[in-house]
Amino acid sequence: MTQPTDLTAFKRKRNRDRASGKTLCKSGFHRWQDEARKQFDVSQGKLVSVQRCERCGQTKTVVS
Ligand SMILES: [Zn+2]
Repeated sequence: MTQPTDLTAFKRKRNRDRASGKTLCKSGFHRWQDEARKQFDVSQGKLVSVQRCERCGQTKTVVS
């Protein structure tokens, strides 16, 4: 199983300040991840995707 290099670098950087993750979420700095399976087109032709914070599980929708 391979991972993108930027993700690997991100994980390495994260190890040091993992404890601050919840604090970041409380401050509104979530770590959004695209949920590709929940990506869909609405009738107006806009793309709506769902993102989930991998730390606290909060979700949001993004219209592009
Ligand atoms: Zn969060």
